[in-house]
Amino acid sequence: MSVITSDRLPWHHSIRWRLALSYVALSIVPLLIFNFTIMSAIQDYFINDRISEIQPRAAIMSDIVARFNFDSRHIQSRVRTRSSEWDVRIVVIDYRARVIEDSNWAALDSLIGRTLLRPDVFAALSGTNTTYLHRGDENVLYVTVSTRDETNGHNGAVMLIANVDDIFNSLAEIRTQLYLYSLAVGLLVFVLVFAMSHRIIAPLRQIVRVVQRMSAGQLNLRIPVTSRDEYAILARTFNNMTEKLEQVEKTREEFVSNVSHELKTPLTAIKVLSESILSQNSVPEEVSREFMHDINSEVDRMVNITNDLLALVKVDRRELSMNISPTDLNALVESILKRLAPLAEKKKVVLLFEEIRPVQIDADEVKLVLAISNIVENGIKYTPGGGTVKVVVNADHQNAFITIQDTGIGIPEEEQDKIFNRFYRVDKMRDRGTGGTGLGLAISRSTVLLHNGSIRITSKPEEGSVFVIRLPIRMT
Ligand code: ADP
Repeated sequence: MSVITSDRLPWHHSIRWRLALSYVALSIVPLLIFNFTIMSAIQDYFINDRISEIQPRAAIMSDIVARFNFDSRHIQSRVRTRSSEWDVRIVVIDYRARVIEDSNWAALDSLIGRTLLRPDVFAALSGTNTTYLHRGDENVLYVTVSTRDETNGHNGAVMLIANVDDIFNSLAEIRTQLYLYSLAVGLLVFVLVFAMSHRIIAPLRQIVRVVQRMSAGQLNLRIPVTSRDEYAILARTFNNMTEKLEQVEKTREEFVSNVSHELKTPLTAIKVLSESILSQNSVPEEVSREFMHDINSEVDRMVNITNDLLALVKVDRRELSMNISPTDLNALVESILKRLAPLAEKKKVVLLFEEIRPVQIDADEVKLVLAISNIVENGIKYTPGGGTVKVVVNADHQNAFITIQDTGIGIPEEEQDKIFNRFYRVDKMRDRGTGGTGLGLAISRSTVLLHNGSIRITSKPEEGSVFVIRLPIRMT
């Protein structure tokens, strides 16, 4: 499986770039909206300013035209003088929408004699003043005022036409500056966020680096916790997990080494025994039988160990193989004791059973039988002839208690914690003689834990031991 390292990450996948670009977008978009709004406000301001400059002039011109009753002879020179004075084109229109005077009279586009069929002209003829801004190659402002023609009682119009390109040129300049300013802000935000995001990304990179080295096998590494933020939580959680992993790895190594060691002892014995038979030419019948007997018991021992190992693996596989059913605990214990009675008889140990009340629990019977048997069997194994093993089944309103009490050799205080470890035996040489593998109590404890119970032990050497198994009772 390949691991993507932060160095190999495509730039557009990197958090740092994404963060910086998001901030740029977040700052540029409002700026652009602001630019747009401010530009149309500025445009309105300038155009209105120009209108309020032209409108009084249109009124003056309208007064003149009305005073001379649209008579070209009188208004022509006045139109031309005012046009050059005010730098606007002045057009006079009679009540039939026909142009009777145009300050651009000499130009090619002179309107004199033309009829202007335009909405603003119609509006003026019906008495309404208008202003109209034409946007195009040329930006032109039309201010049209209605002018009374007293000779016929109709309205004519005076139209002032001003070129406003100067306003739009200035606006274009302002717009360019605003966009350049926005671009600069965007760039600045990018650089700042990119630089600042280093503080956010650096701890993450450090975590990634450590994790990469860990996944390469260096489980002893820890992520340094340098902050109090989410990274600290991540680092601490990860460190805890690694500690557990390390523990599991250590237990696994210990377990493998224990298994190998445990199997090596009988194998060595078998090897020595078989070699000594092979190395002699004629081995007396009873010697070879004795050796074969020894070889056979070593093989038995290996079979015991492998059986126990298999049982342990099964228990460790947990819920997967749990087969829970309502169980009568008294009947279960009784059947165990019945099965172990011949062993107790052989060892001349008295096996007693006391049931105080009926107890129902939820249990995987096959597993629990093995767990309890191991402890009762230990009681028989480690109690000399003439002694007693007493098993009591009792319960309170929450828990069932199975007490296994023997008058055997006992377990020294300092060993009591360890006897539940795999392959642990108090007295290796003596216990080997009893055929024990050191796995029995490990199996019992794992099974009881799987049933949400616990095992407690009190023991005194030479006096005996008491094992108490607690299991939750069945709630109905
Ligand atoms: P084994 O198969 O060796 O009995 P166990 O895991 O069942 O392995 O027990 C571990 C060790 O604990 C035993 O080897 C023995 O030294 C000690 N032990 C267990 N039960 C008793 C007991 N009832 N009395 C004395 N010692 C015990």
